[in-house]
Amino acid sequence: MEVIRGVRQMQEKALTVRAAGRSIALVPTMGFLHEGHLELMRVGRRLCDVLVISIFVNPTQFGPSEDFDQYPRDEEGDLQKARDVGVDLVFIPTAREMYPEGFQSVVHVERVTQGLCGTSRPGHFDGVTTVVAKLFNIVGPDVAVFGQKDYQQLTAISRMVTDLNMPIKIVGVPTVREPDGLAMSSRNKYLDQEERASALSLKKSLDLAERMLAEGETDAGVVRQAVESLILEHPHTRIDYVTLCDPVSLEEVTRLGEETLLALAVHVGRTRLIDNRVIRKGTPGPPEGEGAS
Ligand code: AMP
Repeated sequence: MEVIRGVRQMQEKALTVRAAGRSIALVPTMGFLHEGHLELMRVGRRLCDVLVISIFVNPTQFGPSEDFDQYPRDEEGDLQKARDVGVDLVFIPTAREMYPEGFQSVVHVERVTQGLCGTSRPGHFDGVTTVVAKLFNIVGPDVAVFGQKDYQQLTAISRMVTDLNMPIKIVGVPTVREPDGLAMSSRNKYLDQEERASALSLKKSLDLAERMLAEGETDAGVVRQAVESLILEHPHTRIDYVTLCDPVSLEEVTRLGEETLLALAVHVGRTRLIDNRVIRKGTPGPPEGEGAS
């Protein structure tokens, strides 16, 4: 496994790989790797000849009062995990390398970035789509793999790739969870024992909404109320949003249709967690990995 820190070196390496007729899969990450990230890598490994991952805590997707400085980092541990899962190339640029003096360009995706996390994290998705567009230009992957846990991010990136004619296949991977159902996240490290218990309210509320729909409830307001009550019964929780929306346009709905995305962001103590699931009429409790995430 090779570690590359320079943009030019990465670009040259990728050119050599492509010139040899080998396909490239890219898995962008912010590091502090967990099973969710590793699952993305396994998918990328299967789809292409060469597996590239990037580890970059991207400053432009964090707001001024967010956790950029505290974001957990463990380069040594990450490299070991990447090696074990069969990564070929790890791209670890510095912020200076990615955003040199004079940098002033932005890739902005319009409507799908407006609700959900876009409301409480202004500028976040511009940071995401800009850095991902840069990574795509640097690595030139055939396939790029993202988690459905960040559903809105996956939607915005898919939109960007379509709109800007980027010749890259975007693959979404279902959310990997702890045995009790908590979605894996680098930020779970911030939770103390009581908060960890309350964090489970996210997954429980996805189950609740799915049950309500299976029992015939289609009023989005009623489902949202029930979800909010369940979350707020748990100590240390503060709701950022509970949104029922169309899984493609991400526009809010008042009635649950055949497929509805329930997306949540909840502060548990000082940690902001997100989770989501596409809930479907007539299919109570689809197993993880088959559409639910
Ligand atoms: P991050 O390092 O948090 O920026 O995440 C890097 C990639 O891993 C993104 O595509 C995420 O959606 C994905 N990811 C994070 N957590 C999970 C998870 N629990 N299951 C599947 N994918 C995940």
